[in-house]
Amino acid sequence: MTARYIFPVEGPPIPGGYVTIDRGRIAAVGQSFNGTPDLNLGNVAITPGFVNAHTHLELSEIPAIPDSSRHREGEAPAKPPKEFGSAGASPSLFKQFATSRFDDNAKENEIAWLRRVIAQRRGSGPDDLKNAVARNLESSLVAGTTMLADTTTAGLSWDAISAAPVRAVVFAELIGLKRERGLQTHSDAWDWISKIGPAEQVSACARPGLSPHAPYSTSEWLYHRAAASRLPLSTHLAEMPEEIELLETRQGPLRTFLEDLGAWDESWEPIGPRPGDFIRKGELREADWLIAHGTYFEPDEFWQLRPEASSHGHRVAVAYCPRTHSRFGHAPHPYLAMLERGIVVCLGTDSVASTPSLSVLDEARFLHRRDNSNGPLLLTMATLFGAWALRSETTTGSLKPGKSADLAVIALPDRVTEDPHDLIFDSDLPVVGTMFEGEFIRGKWVGN
Ligand SMILES: [Zn+2]
Repeated sequence: MTARYIFPVEGPPIPGGYVTIDRGRIAAVGQSFNGTPDLNLGNVAITPGFVNAHTHLELSEIPAIPDSSRHREGEAPAKPPKEFGSAGASPSLFKQFATSRFDDNAKENEIAWLRRVIAQRRGSGPDDLKNAVARNLESSLVAGTTMLADTTTAGLSWDAISAAPVRAVVFAELIGLKRERGLQTHSDAWDWISKIGPAEQVSACARPGLSPHAPYSTSEWLYHRAAASRLPLSTHLAEMPEEIELLETRQGPLRTFLEDLGAWDESWEPIGPRPGDFIRKGELREADWLIAHGTYFEPDEFWQLRPEASSHGHRVAVAYCPRTHSRFGHAPHPYLAMLERGIVVCLGTDSVASTPSLSVLDEARFLHRRDNSNGPLLLTMATLFGAWALRSETTTGSLKPGKSADLAVIALPDRVTEDPHDLIFDSDLPVVGTMFEGEFIRGKWVGN
């Protein structure tokens, strides 16, 4: 088939190029096709299918409430925590905290939002959650997603994902500072994982993983058990200043939040005072880690997130979720500095509870508009880097002979631009087709 532009990712865009497919795999990608193509897709771009490196399909929308309205809920207005910037907290972090977070009253407080996510989860039965998974999975496929990293309660999303035309790693969430709660989530996760054999994983194009939720919610032994499991791992890390404060002082708004929930454990000690300790200390290093967010890593910790800092070929990558990050008014995300330092940063949407759509393309367009980020880099973050982080880069993530024909087809504007990437990112035109293993599974060419 031919199109106005092919974006192979591991090579420059090809105007008027073609992709040929043989038994679900890419057979050739090039410029001048000999003969008549079976399908001319017209004024569109063919890119690799998008890889959503961080989402929670079981969550539903939560309307944003800006921080300034929190008085009405009877809560104190957001203030930098008392201990912040004094003993223990780093001055540069305090500066980020003070300048970025509180100058913009339109942003939402993340802990207040977390309370609402928990209320939503508690008010939902398994059927509600499964309906949300089905809905969110459908929007992901329509948005050109061909691989995703989903974090879910004890494999709840597995049946829907494994039946869908998509690749995935499904991370079962481990959570609990209190031993009883930790044991419960651990045994629920393993009840699910132990039922999935290798043959089922292959036919599902999906694998199970584990996700110790976050340093502030998940005790040390759960992180260690996860790292010993040999499964792919994901965790929310360096997500908010309150997390850093809790690790350094065991105090602050997150502690109050956990106490209110009855989830605080007086005997809890963090694995270490820095977020990096939760994936790098001792044997925790012996695993693949996909880090959700990573906003508050300090530059002197970046080296630990480079692939070379992992042992025995284990992988580490950061999944940045730009619009979710922006909703909470955090300090600027250091993704460009991280990429410059050799860290693999891929893109995620996070859930519809914090982002307007489950489209990785929309996340990339947001960055392109806000930061004028470089087009080839954004496309690589949205595809190949995510595939690498999920150990699937030999199968998907770029248009290369031998890889699976997992593609997104994006409508293009009529204009001409100097950099063809602008046709994709400087536009609101939608994904009009999604192909998985050589078959159009969504969009206007289904059945072709
Ligand atoms: Zn998340």
